Amino acid sequence: MVKHKYVYLFSEGNSKMRELLGGKGANLAEMTNMGIPVPAGFTVTTEACTKYYDDGKKVDENIVDEIIQALKDIENKTNKKFGSEENPLLVSVRSGARVSMPGMMDTILNLGLNDNTVKVLAKLTKNERFAYDSYRRFIQMFSDVVMGLDKRDFEDVLDEIKEKKDVKYDTDLDCTDLIYVVKRFKDIYKKAIKEDFPQDPKKQLLLAITAVFSSWNNPRAIVYRRLNDIPGDWGTAVNVQAMVFGNMGDTSGTGVAFTRNPSTGENQIFGEYLINAQGEDVVAGIRTPQPITKLQKELPECYEQFIDIANKLEIHYKDMQDMEFTIEQGKLYFLQTRNGKRTAAAALKIAVDLVEEEIITKEEALLKVDPSKLDTLLHPKFDEDDLESATSVARGLPASPGAASGKIYFTAEDAKAHHDIGEKVILVRLETSPEDIEGMVSSEGILTVRGGMTSHAAVVARGMGTCCVAGCGDISINEKERYFIVKGKTYKEGDYISLDGNTGSVYGRLIKTVAPEISGYFAKFMAWADKIRVMKVRTNADTPRDAAQAVSFGAEGIGLCRTEHMFFQEERITAVREMILSKTEDKRRKALSKILPMQKEDFIGIYEAMGERPVTIRLLDPPLHEFLPKKDEDIEILAKEMNISFEELKDTVSSLHEFNPMMGHRGCRLAVSYPEIAEMQTTAIIEAAIEVSKNNNVKIKPEIMVPLIGELKEMKYVKDIVVNTVNKVFKDKDIELEYQVGTMIEIPRAAITADEVAKEAEFFSFGTNDLTQMTFGFSRDDAGKFLTCYYDKKIYDFDPFQRIDQNGVGRLVEMAAELGRKTRPNIKLGICGEHGGEPSSIDFCHKVGLDYVSCSPYRVPGARLAAAQSQINNPRK
Ligand code: ADP
Ligand code: MG
Ligand code: MG
Repeated sequence: MVKHKYVYLFSEGNSKMRELLGGKGANLAEMTNMGIPVPAGFTVTTEACTKYYDDGKKVDENIVDEIIQALKDIENKTNKKFGSEENPLLVSVRSGARVSMPGMMDTILNLGLNDNTVKVLAKLTKNERFAYDSYRRFIQMFSDVVMGLDKRDFEDVLDEIKEKKDVKYDTDLDCTDLIYVVKRFKDIYKKAIKEDFPQDPKKQLLLAITAVFSSWNNPRAIVYRRLNDIPGDWGTAVNVQAMVFGNMGDTSGTGVAFTRNPSTGENQIFGEYLINAQGEDVVAGIRTPQPITKLQKELPECYEQFIDIANKLEIHYKDMQDMEFTIEQGKLYFLQTRNGKRTAAAALKIAVDLVEEEIITKEEALLKVDPSKLDTLLHPKFDEDDLESATSVARGLPASPGAASGKIYFTAEDAKAHHDIGEKVILVRLETSPEDIEGMVSSEGILTVRGGMTSHAAVVARGMGTCCVAGCGDISINEKERYFIVKGKTYKEGDYISLDGNTGSVYGRLIKTVAPEISGYFAKFMAWADKIRVMKVRTNADTPRDAAQAVSFGAEGIGLCRTEHMFFQEERITAVREMILSKTEDKRRKALSKILPMQKEDFIGIYEAMGERPVTIRLLDPPLHEFLPKKDEDIEILAKEMNISFEELKDTVSSLHEFNPMMGHRGCRLAVSYPEIAEMQTTAIIEAAIEVSKNNNVKIKPEIMVPLIGELKEMKYVKDIVVNTVNKVFKDKDIELEYQVGTMIEIPRAAITADEVAKEAEFFSFGTNDLTQMTFGFSRDDAGKFLTCYYDKKIYDFDPFQRIDQNGVGRLVEMAAELGRKTRPNIKLGICGEHGGEPSSIDFCHKVGLDYVSCSPYRVPGARLAAAQSQINNPRK
């Protein structure tokens, strides 16, 4: 029997094997085979990781054998030997999942060092300081990553010694200091683990590989996966690679660089490096790194070779690359390349530029941009006037673009807590770390005191599209006491500041923000998307303002105009309450006649904003008690206004109380009980359409949508009211226009009997919020409380209210679409739930053949792109 292979040398892999080798491993293999200088190494596959979990967290004997075998290959290629006292091989152990998860998994460097090999290394390199510097790093990383000790205990030792010697940087410590550091580190280890620091390199290696496997399920990784829709069963690969040393003196160094600017997309190499440094030093913000262009002066040959390879990689991968490199005594090595993370603005510019540079096609360009990120480009900018009068109090690095105003908080927990109660927050930290992820997600902006353009805060913020100013050394922060001081002024928790992620400026107060527009690269790119897609994109909008906003973002119609939002406005609520509290039809009609002109005004505004684009207006939907006051004192006020007694009103309010209002007297059930409400709304919809058509010389074709239908006869009853009312208006005004009456499909029974319902309904719009709620049988307002537990226990992978549940709710949609078309072949089909703006759900709608999706205005551009991507991946018609 052929044994299953769990370990691949870099020379045996390629970039197409990322599922098996992880992104990092697959690209290391690809670079190796392209002839780029990559230190020798091998990858333990993601399958080995899955097997590790299947076997109850044990690494299989056969896999251990394969690892030892592959290690021999590195030994041969480097002429070094693991654990040897003549020429010891040191390796790095690096995690690498299918998609990159920055900062989520931990890397161990200099593995193979022990009390003996450190001496050999010192002698061989004639550099004792370097040897002990490497050893102390190794002990710290191993203790932290593999054994779970607190890295602060180790940092405290370093700080203590630096303080004693009155120096600032690690590089200021000499060999004697470092030997002492190593001793102290080993003591910490022994005290905590009750064993000596492991001296056997093979034992070190196996422990490290195991630790990478288990880091796949550390809490940070789990949170990151959930935020980014990464399945928990993918597992991570482990890369073991010969070390090269950037910490061997002034002709050595390490750095990270992008082939283009990841913030703006500008076609210019962008990165940072540090001389005499190792691994994470650049991103950890220990010393401030140099811009990459300086390397041209410092080590010109290395720089030239670096630029050469960077260009080659970009053309090879047809995308902007994010690279890691190390220079060991003047010799350049590449340690990683991947398609670089970028802001949405940069993504657009790079995609358009690559097409114009003839490196990729328009279709490839469209597939390169994440639709769900486009909304970040539509988020507010500072109001110019307000900005003008503001003076910046500090300046840091413009790490991630955008404008943010909010109250400052100093811990991730505080930021999240205050965000959850509806505040706009800005997270202020000395520097961020992966533990801060949830706080960062909750923030409008992030401000750090330390760290460069590639620090954790910068990388993560750019990925999320959140504004970030990093490395703002002007301010002095006290995280513990929760304040910072800049220019002599103290800013406490809860104070307002504003950040400009495009310039790095920090302002000491709230600055007003305004909405931007689509132009330039963005417009060009969106035009490509529009040309390709077959699904239309509409918007959900209730006001002329939102409607106009959505049109400027490319909306082709309104898929859902809710009429109840208009009822809540101050001048109207009284009339609405009067209507609800009326005891007779007569009184109700009187109250409704007061609402009619207002409602008509609303629709006129919306039609005017939309021109001839189709507008779907939904009849009143929520249960009536939502419009009545709940607190006694408010009931009292209303009773006075209505000229009735407190008791009487209180009785009416309680009589409207429902145990389960979401399944209560709402939707079309209101029109069945009180036809006069539907009559009034229909009159307003049609009269407004007639007026605007006449005045603006356009053809308005209203689509009247009946909510919450579950039965054909119910549909027919409400439709008859609508049609009769329309005919009355036509006769009154002596004019006719085209219109349609359709329904929302949001009750499972309507989906199941869709062939029946379609006999009356002229269009379907899938209301997937209610449909999800009713199909799962849990309320969207309460599900948040227990769904987290479902994710933790891996029962659900994602929130079915955000991404359509294709296997359940999706099946109902597909079935209803088919049944509907059977009865009415040209029936218009759309979706207007929250899902209409979410890319995987949009792709589903494309596959089942819907005519349009409808989403909130800010998601319209993303939906246009998602629809184009679906057409590229699965062409329809
Ligand atoms: P991450 O995914 O967090 O970037 P990496 O595995 O890429 O983790 O490594 C962390 C750091 O260590 C990077 O700066 C990388 O360049 C460096 N590094 C990894 N392996 C080696 C090696 N064999 N020699 C020198 N530096 C290395
Ligand atoms: Mg890292
Ligand atoms: Mg890396």
